[in-house]
Amino acid sequence: MTTTASLVLASGNPGKLREFEQLLGPLGLHIRPQSDFAVSEVVETGLTFVENALLKAREASRVSGLPALADDSGLEVDALDGAPGIYSARYAGEPKSDERNNARLLEALGEVPEGARSARYWCVLVHLRHPEDPVPRIVQCSWEGEILAHPRGEGGFGYDPLFWLPDQGMSVAELPAAEKNRLSHRGRALQALVEQFRQADGSH
Ligand code: IMP
Repeated sequence: MTTTASLVLASGNPGKLREFEQLLGPLGLHIRPQSDFAVSEVVETGLTFVENALLKAREASRVSGLPALADDSGLEVDALDGAPGIYSARYAGEPKSDERNNARLLEALGEVPEGARSARYWCVLVHLRHPEDPVPRIVQCSWEGEILAHPRGEGGFGYDPLFWLPDQGMSVAELPAAEKNRLSHRGRALQALVEQFRQADGSH
């Protein structure tokens, strides 16, 4: 791709903006935050990550007049029938708190033994060429792990101190940031999207 095209990111998170810029910039995509266009926060009424990402992307595209990219993510715990799922950010209620979410997760798992605490992070990315795009580009990636009985590590955010990676022998909060970006549900979803853009070469 040789021309520079603009894309609005349907997120107010500066960390995400940086990550997306690093991977999509080399493809000739100029990423603009939705705060540039006064996009208001969408009520996430969907029952799936896909629906919620679509709602966010559609609104950002409608207000900005640009193609849009949105992500939605969360934690799925098997012993809790998939909770907290799409409610991950507010699992312990408002206002959002990682600390209270983690405490609620440990309480909900109670005495569930090691070996029955399997879980995965999910990240869904949605790209729309315009607000009425009938064929959204959708990527879904998961990251498998287990929920610890006690937090470990200081890095990352959200449920990372409780998310154990058997292959790495550490929690996500103990993993160096660059490694997290390479291995995580979000990092790999973004890499998959970049690959799709490369293959489509200019269709966005
Ligand atoms: P959002 O996609 O930014 O709305 O994030 C949803 C919620 O899922 C976050 O607030 C976290 O609770 C959880 N979550 C998603 N990705 C991660 C991650 O990489 N580490 C820890 N928690 C995460």
